[in-house]
Amino acid sequence: MSKTISLNVKCPNCNKSLMDNEVQVNERPSIKLNVETAKDRGTIRLCSTYGCYDHQCDIDLPDGEIARFFCPNCNKELVSKDKCESCDAPMVTFTLQLGGKVYICSRRGCEQHFVAFEDLALELRKFYHEYGF
Ligand SMILES: [Zn+2]
Ligand SMILES: [Zn+2]
Repeated sequence: MSKTISLNVKCPNCNKSLMDNEVQVNERPSIKLNVETAKDRGTIRLCSTYGCYDHQCDIDLPDGEIARFFCPNCNKELVSKDKCESCDAPMVTFTLQLGGKVYICSRRGCEQHFVAFEDLALELRKFYHEYGF
């Protein structure tokens, strides 16, 4: 299985796309967010490939640090009520353009993440249609 799923996400609060076509990570549009740590704030661009943790960040993000992520459009914090199953940090959430949500752990270095669909069968059909599996 070499096919990768590229996520297309938007803000759960204002519904604006979080994709940045101008700056690419791994040759795909990046997910652009404002990021804040205990010491600093800046901009982060996440790789949009599902399961990939590559990112570009203009501030120092030490391993193990819990960062807070904000929508660059409405400035609301992108945080869910869920806690990470591995490390107990808050899970960050985005809405998928196709429906459903993706969750990622807010702790740097933790690889916990999952996609949650409200209607799995329907969303998966859309997914297959969109990505041509
Ligand atoms: Zn927003
Ligand atoms: Zn975690």
